[in-house]
Amino acid sequence: MQEELLNSVVKITKTRDIDSLEYSLASTIHEFIHCQKIAVYKDLQIPDKLVVERSVALEEVSDKEFEWYERSIISEPDNELISCLQSACTITVQSVDGIERRWVPISIQERPVAAIAIVSKQMSSGDQVLLNAFCRIFENYLTILHENERDKLTGLLNRHTFDRRLKQLIERQVVKKHKSVRSADVRKLHNDATSWLAVIDIDHFKQVNDKYGHVCGDEVLLLLAQQMKKFFRSNDLVFRYGGEEFVLVFEPTHFDAMNNRMKEFMELLKNTKFPFVNNLTVSIGMARISPYDFPITVIEKADKALYFAKEHGRNQVRFYEQLLADGEIIEPDVEDSDIDLF
Ligand code: GH3
Ligand code: MG
Ligand code: MG
Repeated sequence: MQEELLNSVVKITKTRDIDSLEYSLASTIHEFIHCQKIAVYKDLQIPDKLVVERSVALEEVSDKEFEWYERSIISEPDNELISCLQSACTITVQSVDGIERRWVPISIQERPVAAIAIVSKQMSSGDQVLLNAFCRIFENYLTILHENERDKLTGLLNRHTFDRRLKQLIERQVVKKHKSVRSADVRKLHNDATSWLAVIDIDHFKQVNDKYGHVCGDEVLLLLAQQMKKFFRSNDLVFRYGGEEFVLVFEPTHFDAMNNRMKEFMELLKNTKFPFVNNLTVSIGMARISPYDFPITVIEKADKALYFAKEHGRNQVRFYEQLLADGEIIEPDVEDSDIDLF
């Protein structure tokens, strides 16, 4: 037992990303504690509202048969889950048939960010100690991974995380595409919404620094980051890619909807009172993320669209595919490309 326990700790702390860490935790708890269901719920940390995502769930579907469930946003979280996330206290509810439902909070820097939910027969005190220990190991390790993934000033995802996240998203698209083809739903495949990538660069930001100093510039960056976190959906990924450059990765969306959303975002910035600057504008380059793209290719496309926006008056959103269709830019000849594939 002791050796198995040590091995499970090694397994949990071997992972290098938060998604795998959650899977390791759920499967380890399931291995050591007899339960009917184990799930990880995350507070997505959207300013001014509670949005909860169930990132991992393993549930008994029939006698000793367990099934993993895909991540999903919980539209109406249980009251106990909300209390757990708000109070950072473990909550246990027992039903008349002796089944216990338990929510254990997970905090980063004393702020509750997630809850481990477990459904089981009444738990022995030994199992409770074990569950608590697994949750604390998870919490400590999550804190380290979380800090590694974030930018210190804005709290957004950092550039270091970007490649891995985009690669994961592209891989998921490939799997989905194959599934669609297998189910012969070809019509759906052609009409499918795709993911999008945006590169956002502040216009004439150097002037802000030159006029008011770097610290004031940082304050502007912070407010812009907060506006992005508030405006975009919880499933969209927002990265601080460079100093005053941000990259966003959007969930599958149709072109018209994506275009409208970006226009609304520009409108929001127009109506936002930024400190020091009267009129802060940004230029945005967008590109579609296709299942067989390399991350570098998508970024290059979005960068080209951004460059076009900068060259044509700034304060605007441009889509690479549209610029290409309109003949405003030319697709690079693969032979001329200086990207090293091997
Ligand atoms: P453009 O419209 O062409 O983008 O003009 P720009 O002045 O914004 O030019 P560019 O994007 O090339 O310059 C980025 C400037 O952003 C340079 C630097 O002064 C500022 N900057 C970069 N990182 C930071 C940061 O972390 N904090 C602050 N305050 N300023 C930064
Ligand atoms: Mg820049
Ligand atoms: Mg700029």
